[in-house]
Amino acid sequence: MKNLKHRELQEGEFWRKFPAFAEVSQDEFIDYKWQIKNSISDLKKLVETIEYFVSDDFLLAITKGFHLAPMTVRVTPYLLSLIDWNDPWNDPIRKQFIPASNRLIEDHPMLTLDSLHEQKDSPVSGLTHRYSDKALFLTVNSCPVYCRFCTRSYAVGADTETVKKMDLYLNSKHWETAFQYIESCPELEDIVISGGDTYNLSAEAIKKIGFRLLQIPHIQRIRFATKGLAVMPMKILSDEKWVDALTEVVCLGRKLHKQVAIHTHFNNAQEITMISKLAIDKLFERGIVIRNQSVLLRGVNDTSEEMQLLVKRLSYINVQPYYVYQHDMVQGVEDLRTSVQTTIEIEKNVRGVTAGFNTPTFVLDAPGGGGKRCIHSFEYYNPETGVSVYTAPSVKPGKYFMYFDPLHSLSEEIRQAWRDENKRQQMCLDAIYHSGVAVRSHFA
Ligand SMILES: *Cc1c(COP(=O)(O)O)cnc(C)c1O
Ligand code: SF4
Repeated sequence: MKNLKHRELQEGEFWRKFPAFAEVSQDEFIDYKWQIKNSISDLKKLVETIEYFVSDDFLLAITKGFHLAPMTVRVTPYLLSLIDWNDPWNDPIRKQFIPASNRLIEDHPMLTLDSLHEQKDSPVSGLTHRYSDKALFLTVNSCPVYCRFCTRSYAVGADTETVKKMDLYLNSKHWETAFQYIESCPELEDIVISGGDTYNLSAEAIKKIGFRLLQIPHIQRIRFATKGLAVMPMKILSDEKWVDALTEVVCLGRKLHKQVAIHTHFNNAQEITMISKLAIDKLFERGIVIRNQSVLLRGVNDTSEEMQLLVKRLSYINVQPYYVYQHDMVQGVEDLRTSVQTTIEIEKNVRGVTAGFNTPTFVLDAPGGGGKRCIHSFEYYNPETGVSVYTAPSVKPGKYFMYFDPLHSLSEEIRQAWRDENKRQQMCLDAIYHSGVAVRSHFA
């Protein structure tokens, strides 16, 4: 039997099931201003909206989750309506945005807050220059929604009860410092304009940043990074000014023979509805290229079936699946991490289901600043201790980088060993020894 599930997109007025949104018409729901105004970031409002559907246990767990989470909570009414409230514990969208305390588990002892060392590779505030020809430009520190697993939870969103955020001074005054740095580096050709989320930049800011970068002679490619398409496609359908600003930047790029693309962030096929398709069709008609970067998340997209469906559905709506990331070693979200072994298995099952150019590369962003490495390219991996060792000869020659599978993927005996300082060190040394990297870098 042919499986065509990827073409079945949710449509209709699915939000009306909530008493709070029962009277909301299609026109209102499609209005991005309505979505923003009715986005939920406080516990009381969330409870009021969902209490008709969920158990007291669940309400208690999210009440505690709100207090413990390192990330601010914010969800759009759209996302909230896509959650299956008959089974909120297991819902892939709920897991990404709404913390439930009894599902939180202890952090791996090797975790740090800025695990990718983005701050160490920053020549100026808000700009990470790690690879020679491309740089990451952080322009804003807010997002239309907040993901529990955000890699930049050290800086993105408001302070929470457990984390005081680093101030990256992301405002138009500081952008100028970044532009000047980019101008001073002739080797730079590619700028990732990120955040936070570039959805939260005004139409004027999109033009200001886009035009300024395209006018730098050596800049050939820019991308706007936004999760917005996945969490609030309404903006594309109803914020004409913003979409026109983006289109102007894309058109100028085309005239100058430079690429302008959008990189977005869908994680589960359930996030792709008829509304997403309408929004993406609109951008497609304007010739705007959209690529997708997912994060592999436990219980969200960590089965081959789920990832195959996501890849096929993205391809179906003309979004190119570009990357699937191994979850970074971020604090407070161990329940969402998976092992390297899981990612390898899923990659094997995804390659071959559709066109090669729509097959994502599964990468691990090596902790400590090694950059993105193909998940299969480790020098050594021990699934028993969960330690993997990677090198990045074109990025940080002579160095090696270690990643640690989450404790929940390991045996009880090994979990105990990680809690012991000496055994911990021994497991790391053992992995380094077997990988041969120490010897090689010694002779390099
Ligand atoms: C991911 C990333 C980039 C872009 O890398 P691609 O592999 O080209 O998508 C650039 N700079 C930094 C610091 C990054 O983390
Ligand atoms: S949209 Fe991106 S930057 Fe914002 S919270 Fe989610 S992962 Fe972090």
